[in-house]
Amino acid sequence: MKFKLTILGSGGAIPTIEKRPTSQFLNIQERRFLIDCGEGTQIQLRKFGCRFTKIDHIFISHLHGDHYLGLIGLLSTFNLLGRINPIYIYAPKELEEILEMHFKISGKPFRFNIEFHPLNFKNKALIFEDTVLQVFSFPVSHSVPCCGFLFKEVKKSRNIIKTKIQNKPIPFEKLKLLKEGKNVDFNNEILKYKDYTKDSPKPRSYAYCADTQYDENLIPIISNVDLLYHEATFLEQMKERAKKTQHSTAKDAATMAKEANTKRLIIGHFSARYNEIINFEKEAKTIFENTIAVNDGDIFEI
Ligand SMILES: [Zn+2]
Repeated sequence: MKFKLTILGSGGAIPTIEKRPTSQFLNIQERRFLIDCGEGTQIQLRKFGCRFTKIDHIFISHLHGDHYLGLIGLLSTFNLLGRINPIYIYAPKELEEILEMHFKISGKPFRFNIEFHPLNFKNKALIFEDTVLQVFSFPVSHSVPCCGFLFKEVKKSRNIIKTKIQNKPIPFEKLKLLKEGKNVDFNNEILKYKDYTKDSPKPRSYAYCADTQYDENLIPIISNVDLLYHEATFLEQMKERAKKTQHSTAKDAATMAKEANTKRLIIGHFSARYNEIINFEKEAKTIFENTIAVNDGDIFEI
């Protein structure tokens, strides 16, 4: 079952030929999410073969231009392509005003509805839930209100071991109880759930830490995730600049991954002043070995 992240933009605030501003496309079991939408995101979606007309949920971490300036263009394209399904946008509340201003001036309402969900910048909040996964927003520490997002699969009930029930016509209700981890009686025999079922696969998780300085409050929220994206705008040499702009260094990102006991770390949002991203990876790896400095088009599967 798919849990696949495509990096659409891995650069910082200034777009370059190789690195576009922040955006990521996440497919979890055929639910398609867009995380941030920097300038040119729709081109990147096409370039990397993402089925972008299937996106129903867009998460915007904050209103610095490099995280949302591609949104109006993308929505306009959806409209031109004849979209009628609603789109759900989770973003700072001011984005709704920006969109309304655009529609007021450009004059043509879209054929589809925009369902707007303002983000909570005080606490962790459940913002999306279905049978397969939950999505939480959580405040991070940046120069304007900003949220990260946590994508977590829901733990499934236990799986029946088919060979064990082949010659036993156990009624459906009792199978259901076994799957829930309960022993049942059947034909004067106690069937132990441990003999008839096995544990379901461990739920997978991905945390996106947006733009943030190092913030230890994030540790309990993102602890033990399978994959962590943490920005690393600067190298440690520019620590002062990082502090001033409320961004992180590669070392900060790696420290976060280590403290939160994550399995894998990917870093991005590199300042355009650096030509070589390998130095970010080297710096991070001194603290957290399983780190990758990402490029546009990189794919990570869990
Ligand atoms: Zn920012």
